[in-house]
Amino acid sequence: MDLNKSVAVIGAGIAGLQAAIELADCGLNVYLIEKKAYAGGNVQKLYKMFPTDDCAFCTVSTLLKPGIRKCFYRAGVTKHPRISLLADCEVKQIEGVKGNFKIAITQHPRYVSFNCTRCGECEGACPVEITPKKWNETPRKAIYLPTQMCIPQTYVIDREKCEPNCAKCVEICPFEGVINLNEQGKELELNVGAIILATGYKEFDPSPLINLKYGLYDDVITQLELAQMLDPNGPTGGRLIRPSDGTPVKSLIMIQCVGSRDQTYKKYCSTICCSYACKHARIIKAERDSNIDIYVIYMDIRTFGALETYYRECRELGIDFLRGRVAEIRQRKDGILNVIAVDTLLQRSIELSVDLVVLTPALTPSIGSDELFKKIGVETDESGYIIAKSGDKTLTSIEGIYLCGTAIAPTDFPSSVTLAKAAVFNVLKQINGGEPSS
Ligand SMILES: Cc1cc2nc3c(=O)[nH]c(=O)nc-3n(C[C@H](O)[C@H](O)[C@H](O)COP(=O)(O)OP(=O)(O)OC[C@H]3O[C@@H](n4cnc5c(N)ncnc54)[C@H](O)[C@@H]3O)c2cc1C
Ligand code: SF4
Ligand code: SF4
Ligand code: SF4
Repeated sequence: MDLNKSVAVIGAGIAGLQAAIELADCGLNVYLIEKKAYAGGNVQKLYKMFPTDDCAFCTVSTLLKPGIRKCFYRAGVTKHPRISLLADCEVKQIEGVKGNFKIAITQHPRYVSFNCTRCGECEGACPVEITPKKWNETPRKAIYLPTQMCIPQTYVIDREKCEPNCAKCVEICPFEGVINLNEQGKELELNVGAIILATGYKEFDPSPLINLKYGLYDDVITQLELAQMLDPNGPTGGRLIRPSDGTPVKSLIMIQCVGSRDQTYKKYCSTICCSYACKHARIIKAERDSNIDIYVIYMDIRTFGALETYYRECRELGIDFLRGRVAEIRQRKDGILNVIAVDTLLQRSIELSVDLVVLTPALTPSIGSDELFKKIGVETDESGYIIAKSGDKTLTSIEGIYLCGTAIAPTDFPSSVTLAKAAVFNVLKQINGGEPSS
């Protein structure tokens, strides 16, 4: 195999999927390596997406099959002759140089092959019922579909929860060999000419900010958790509830810049969180219940470009924006949360009583990125992001290793896709003997 024509993409979120499909459509062999059982990344949890308010997976494709909705196109990732989706994988080691990298991977068993048709027969037959422990989990069986939008649309098995000696799912599955309860993990070694890192982001854990009581009060949640709550396919069926007792929310406060623009935690602005806070506030007022009182406590509202319209619409819908900082959140005996803050415009202290508090935390590199970046030997800054080699954000300090999407910095879906295209461009330049852009 011509090594120079094989590329590994690590991370199968929107950015990794875009990069993989573009590379494969250009005739390269792509190993798309994903640590989870399925591709799709964080957008699986987001419900509607700005700027179009579409489902993230239903953006019309601009690729080689114009007119085909991207959801189908991306779902075809397992069928593309030049893409090998390696799910449930852990990258153990990366060594080598541009044009000849070796990647050692452990692939964990998934027990259900990509040939599963999602008929659901196995789920009906499985005797193990798993009861949710938290509001954002759904009841499921030991064999289950990980998310409604997962790629590929195949079941997975939580083998540790299986009943001893049970094989009911195998017996009922209409397709022989699709379920293999004895599957073992594998050690793989890949040889590739270039690597694209598309390892994405996570929300900063707000628990260290003890005044905000995240992890202590059930009714203090994050924006990513709110997105799951608003999703009709999500754990609450789209109902806005207080996690503590399941009652409907009549009032809520969003607190911006949690851990962002903060000298103790993350010094940078996470750039997109004002926009999705406005997106969520607008969905609640316009689509759920216009009588719900919504307050947003902010330092500055940074809704860049066309997203300013979200902010304007929010104001027109009666959402109350208060410039200030939160001192403390206290829970009353009846469960209501009292938010004590300073209004920095009017120089007064305020106290608001609400059913739900939604924190808007900083966005940071995804779980395990630090370990992976260390293994590769790329240089990172104090927040854990890779330091770009030059003005081109998709270049790392190691030739032949490129970056894209939110692995570079917090950014939105369209920019993640654009950065994936830029990384692909640099890989193609490498393969064709040109120098990457600088
Ligand atoms: C609450 C919220 C709302 C948002 N709303 C919008 C919106 O409305 N519009 C918009 O444009 N953007 C929105 N965004 C931003 C959007 O989610 C991102 O731009 C987009 O998901 C970035 O995709 P990505 O592929 O870079 O990263 P991710 O989606 O994080 O994907 C990264 C993938 O890499 C995998 N991975 C990580 N590490 C490894 C590893 N070591 N090995 C293998 N695989 C690995 C992960 O499992 C994941 O599948 C929102 C973000 C948040 C938090
Ligand atoms: S083997 Fe496991 S997943 Fe299959 S039916 Fe039995 S308990 Fe369910
Ligand atoms: S594993 Fe078999 S029975 Fe279960 S959904 Fe897939 S095809 Fe259907
Ligand atoms: S985008 Fe808004 S909420 Fe996010 S860090 Fe910047 S100013 Fe704060």
